[in-house]
Amino acid sequence: MKHIDEYRDGNLARSIASVIAHEATTGRQYRFMEFCGGHTHAISRYGIEDLLPDNVQMVHGPGCPVCVLPIGRIDDAIRLSLRPDVTLCTYADLMRVPASGGNTLLKTKAAGADIRMVYSTLDAIRIAETEPARDVVFFAIGFETTTPPTALAIQLARRKQLSNFSVFCNHVLTPPAMRAILDTPDAAGAVCLDGFVGPAHVSTVIGTDPYAALAEKYRKPVVVAGFEPLDVVQAILMLVRQVNEGIHEVQNQYIRAVTAQGNLIAQREMAEIFELRPSFEWRGLGELELSALRLRDAYADLDAERRYQIETIPAADNPACECGEILRGVKKPAECKLFGTLCSPDMPMGSCMVSPEGACAAHWSYGRFRDSAKTVGAVL
Ligand code: SF4
Repeated sequence: MKHIDEYRDGNLARSIASVIAHEATTGRQYRFMEFCGGHTHAISRYGIEDLLPDNVQMVHGPGCPVCVLPIGRIDDAIRLSLRPDVTLCTYADLMRVPASGGNTLLKTKAAGADIRMVYSTLDAIRIAETEPARDVVFFAIGFETTTPPTALAIQLARRKQLSNFSVFCNHVLTPPAMRAILDTPDAAGAVCLDGFVGPAHVSTVIGTDPYAALAEKYRKPVVVAGFEPLDVVQAILMLVRQVNEGIHEVQNQYIRAVTAQGNLIAQREMAEIFELRPSFEWRGLGELELSALRLRDAYADLDAERRYQIETIPAADNPACECGEILRGVKKPAECKLFGTLCSPDMPMGSCMVSPEGACAAHWSYGRFRDSAKTVGAVL
């Protein structure tokens, strides 16, 4: 298919990989984090790590929206959905993320709660319009990519004077999470990185400029890349070159969609509706200052947190699940002892096994076959 096949050309990928192998011969290790779950999925699906020399390693990052949502916020959504007046609308992946006590939104729905999967925020608006007796709450999650559609829904609800619509806002921001990973002290399990493959969709909204301060402060290059395999391989080559040249710039591989300033209209709409939260809990990263958004006072009537006086009760992850370490890049999915035994996409024990963007789910779908091929190869 035009506009896809040309970015999946295996011969071209192999020839770029051979250039990487040729240039990454400085006797050092190169460790790059792909921040975004979309890249994690692409790296697993297309076997990109198999193309790289042993001294160029990819580290999975926390950029899967479903994965980073802490259990306490899912518990909040479940409690909300149990109110007889509430219809809770959310995206499908969230339905299966384990909450406290092994509960999920899907199980809660099966037990009778009015929880509905939607494909867009506009679906939730439509439900509010057609069912005025229901109080429709949109369970909003995600990075800067999914924030503009939530802003649009809030504006529409205001314009249509929908008094039975509100948003439970859990939108989070990419640059603070990247900073948190680089700020992790060694004693707390810091992962040593040489640079980032920057997110694609997020950067279509925020542009490449917001990474500049981070690249400068931490002296780590950032290359924003598209999600196709050739995008990722080219971004890795650009990172290797920056490391070899001793520079730490923000570069844009994804020029067909991303600009330095991003989508100014989307940014304006987001700024109109949302403000920074002083602090927000992330699964795996803990409490991060100024890392998430909430509705401004001017939109308080559309804020489910205020309407229903939601007070989040922090809840611990399943102690056997290593999602926290995986989201910080400290461990790989196969290093979790539950991987493929007690935890699989059919029966996820942690958030990283739910969404296709989760590192464990991506490794389950593609990487585990390579693991077993390597094991067989080693035995033979
Ligand atoms: S394999 Fe399952 S239990 Fe282990 S870290 Fe991944 S999601 Fe958590």
